[in-house]
Amino acid sequence: MDTSKRPHVLEILLETERGAAFPCPECGRHCKAHDFKDFTWRHLNFFQHHCLITARVPRTDCREHGVKRVRVPWARDGSGFTLLFEQAAMTLVREIPVLAVARFIGITDKRLWRIVEHYVAKALRDLDLSALTALAFDETASKRGHNYVTVFIDADRKSEPVVFATPGKGKATVTEFKTFLKAHGGQSSRVTEVVCDMSPAFLAAVGKAFPDATVTVDWFHVVQLFTKAVDDVRKAERRLVRMPAATRWAVLKAGDGGRLTEKQAAALAELETGDFLTAKAWRIKEKLRWVRRAETPHAASWRLSHFLRHAHQQIGHGPLLEAVAKALETVEKHAERILQRWTSTHSNARIEALNGLFQAARARARGYRNTATFITMIYLIAAPLGNLFNSI
Ligand SMILES: [Zn+2]
Repeated sequence: MDTSKRPHVLEILLETERGAAFPCPECGRHCKAHDFKDFTWRHLNFFQHHCLITARVPRTDCREHGVKRVRVPWARDGSGFTLLFEQAAMTLVREIPVLAVARFIGITDKRLWRIVEHYVAKALRDLDLSALTALAFDETASKRGHNYVTVFIDADRKSEPVVFATPGKGKATVTEFKTFLKAHGGQSSRVTEVVCDMSPAFLAAVGKAFPDATVTVDWFHVVQLFTKAVDDVRKAERRLVRMPAATRWAVLKAGDGGRLTEKQAAALAELETGDFLTAKAWRIKEKLRWVRRAETPHAASWRLSHFLRHAHQQIGHGPLLEAVAKALETVEKHAERILQRWTSTHSNARIEALNGLFQAARARARGYRNTATFITMIYLIAAPLGNLFNSI
């Protein structure tokens, strides 16, 4: 026990008997040791003290396979930790942020990430996608505004739906997913439904990669489109007239379940009574709710056309409301795909749920976060990885 270190370190030294034979790692034949080299592994704590195992590991000299390093049963090749230590780390990482786990077990988060990435990648190799028939995908940024990641989910899975995540956004990611699907037993011709947003790049790629699939535009993206349009109108109008204070959050939050502060509620009331174009844009966005509440495909279709017609009349041709006009145009163009959600058998709340997942992954990958660790965390939280430690 080395008590000069804090925390103290218990060192366990393993030696072999002189002249002992060892199994060749290739064929198992017992061979003489060719030579030895010392290796050290961090093991589970001994009480509150760190514990290190150092062993003289032989290389065998097999007649058939030559000189090979023997495998030890307590650690995987190339790791400086025992399997039990890694298992404890992985159990914690599934529950709390990596940085917190690293501090708790006393290793750097960079080293911990290497363990996590190993086990996640290993579990992913066994992912079976032969039953996949419906998929949804969306993009997000690992940091605000850059390093995009596109995440694909199996729309039939209620829990752990993520089946693929890859750096970048747009066309190439769809092709990459198709390759991944094939490598994991899936068939693109079996995919009958794809849920995504209205980006022309995505839609073109989906049409090419999954020609037999019906494309549904998620409602979440329709709302997102108009939320942005309202905000654009607000920004343009702000340059011309004095807007009530707290307008920005008032129009973003109102109706989205967010609770307004007194100031925001006052701003919204003032907007409504004054002749503000932002209020007009906001009312158009709010009317989407009425479209969404339609109970049948027929009613939805009628309500959507009514919404578009009414909104067009409302905005006229002024330049300030151009953002809303553009949003309307996009919806018009994709009306069929948007209405598809009323006939789709798949839940349309999935993409919305994905955004909660992205937030959680960002928080759990805090500290040493880059595209790779962000993707690893998305898999760890939401992919069907099963038991990461089948071998213990
Ligand atoms: Zn051999």
